[in-house]
Amino acid sequence: KTQKHDAVPDQYHWPADNGTFVLDRRANATIVMLARNGDINGVVKSLKQVEDRFNKRFRYPYVILNDEPFLDHFKERVSKLTDATVEFGLIPRDHWHQPEWIDEEKASKVRETMAKNNVIYGGSLPYRNMCRFNSGFFFRHELLAKYKYYWRVEPDVTFFCDLNFDPFLFMQDNDKVYSFTIALPEYGETIETLWQTVREFMEKNPDLIAPNNGLGFLSDDGGLTYNRCHFWSNFEIADLDFWRGEAYMRYFEHLDKAGGFYYERWGDAPVHSIGAALLAPKEKLHFFREIGYRHEPFQHCPISDLHKQGKCWCDPLLDNFDYHWYSCLPKYDRLFE
Ligand code: GDP
Ligand code: MN
Repeated sequence: KTQKHDAVPDQYHWPADNGTFVLDRRANATIVMLARNGDINGVVKSLKQVEDRFNKRFRYPYVILNDEPFLDHFKERVSKLTDATVEFGLIPRDHWHQPEWIDEEKASKVRETMAKNNVIYGGSLPYRNMCRFNSGFFFRHELLAKYKYYWRVEPDVTFFCDLNFDPFLFMQDNDKVYSFTIALPEYGETIETLWQTVREFMEKNPDLIAPNNGLGFLSDDGGLTYNRCHFWSNFEIADLDFWRGEAYMRYFEHLDKAGGFYYERWGDAPVHSIGAALLAPKEKLHFFREIGYRHEPFQHCPISDLHKQGKCWCDPLLDNFDYHWYSCLPKYDRLFE
């Protein structure tokens, strides 16, 4: 199947001769990672690749966040990888922990049941804190206040190709708010009441729903049910101001009050994706064809001319999620057909 998605135009690319390029334009952007001290090996593995494939040329600053203080050893290993600025941040207590008004008895029963049923991370409280933090708080961290765009990177991911262009400038010039490389369905057991909660929000706030939105990616029946498709949020290049804006903040508050981050196990991926698809016009979403990326167990591998352009080392034919049976990319494509 051929790709119908737009490639990043030449004007965003580093010149092919590569010698005397002067950065005459930059976006207001940062590369952000959430991590634990114990993630250090995966952290440096990911960040070394970000440096080598992209950022040693562009030198965008890094922000690394944790709910506990980073150890000196952690900070040293990360700082040594780059000439760019690295800031290490501590997450405020109330941005991370389960709020007072959550009924802990109810929440812990859910964790027990989900653990018994082998729901992935179903028994974990820290995972729920992480999902809620990523859904509604990371963009309000003081270290991110000065930035407009961010690239989210996780420990232990793989970047297969050279990125000879500035994705942030592409986002900025083209007025994009959210971009992705992989889209797939969420586990139903983790989001049993998410869609009905979203529908309540839509009914109460029709003025916040974007005309010409991406509902067709999320639903196969005009919004009655959720098809569980979401952008895989371990990779994101997006606009922090979109999350900080009134529409998304009210949406997040509505979901948070419903309690599903703790009474179920709502992930930040469906929460972000539904927010981006409903609260922004669909033209503001973007699929980055060029970015060869793997987070276990799936990968996006650029094909044809883009594969060559990026000097990618992934297999574009045998291991590329785009049109794998489980991929939601076709549901994204149909938004534009
Ligand atoms: P998965 O990708 O859904 O399997 O989950 P991960 O274990 O990769 O976690 C997602 C992101 O959150 C990664 O960047 C982790 O480093 C981070 N993370 C997960 N749990 C915690 C936690 O308890 N504390 C901190 N500081 N980071 C966490
Ligand atoms: Mn991960």
